Amino acid sequence: LVVLDNVNKHFGALHVLQNIDLTIARGEVVVVIGPSGSGKSTLCRAINRLEPIDSGSITLDGKPLPAEGRELARLRADVGMVFQSFNLFAHKTVLQNVTLGQIKVRRKDKAAAETSARALLDRVGVGNQADKYPAQLSGGQQQRVAIARALAMEPKVMLFDEPTSALDPEMINEVLEVMQQLARDGMTMVVVTHEMGFARSAANRVVFMSDGQIVEETTPDQFFTNPRSDRAKDFLSKIL
Ligand code: ATP
Ligand code: MG
Repeated sequence: LVVLDNVNKHFGALHVLQNIDLTIARGEVVVVIGPSGSGKSTLCRAINRLEPIDSGSITLDGKPLPAEGRELARLRADVGMVFQSFNLFAHKTVLQNVTLGQIKVRRKDKAAAETSARALLDRVGVGNQADKYPAQLSGGQQQRVAIARALAMEPKVMLFDEPTSALDPEMINEVLEVMQQLARDGMTMVVVTHEMGFARSAANRVVFMSDGQIVEETTPDQFFTNPRSDRAKDFLSKIL
């Protein structure tokens, strides 16, 4: 579904993505882990075209990512993204946050958008918060709204960049549970996270990045019990 072929990206002298080859199949859950600064966020942003690449190619459904205009807006809708910071529209209600893109990008009428938004808000457990503003919600609730907003676009793939790392501990699980359910429902997902429990139970594949490279790409079982590279061993010894 998503194919990265020999992708390279620099920030000045820093070679932040180095010859990245990665194929994400439909329905697959790929967890990306690695030390701070290894390029995980840049990888996600490249898939969404928030970050241009220097060479190589990225395709979605066999098609190269569009550069601009309406095609790009549609790509962003096809590739849902949930960030560490919740990124909701502060001056719109929860319901409006989830209907806006459906109306503007997917061209749904307001009533249909609201019906699907309410169903999605129920699904992520915040159906009773629809008329509040983001600031009136807890971090965990806001993040679940952000997930609902992305899902409202009926994306082909969902990217999560450390969706729980800004949350208080007691709110982490409510977000991870929504993501677990999404994975069980067959959503194609790329998840950058330090939540190793999630990686173990939800991932089909673990991609370990270090210094802009994919160092290891394997099953969660293999990765956690028997990492091959020294860099992965070193990383795991620090976080487990
Ligand atoms: P973290 O775990 O801390 O989120 P990460 O793996 O997501 O790290 P990236 O955010 O992708 O890492 O950053 C990779 C490297 O690129 C870092 O050294 C970072 O400082 C650098 N970098 C990221 N964005 C930019 C930018 N816009 N301009 C210059 N350098 C950048
Ligand atoms: Mg990051």
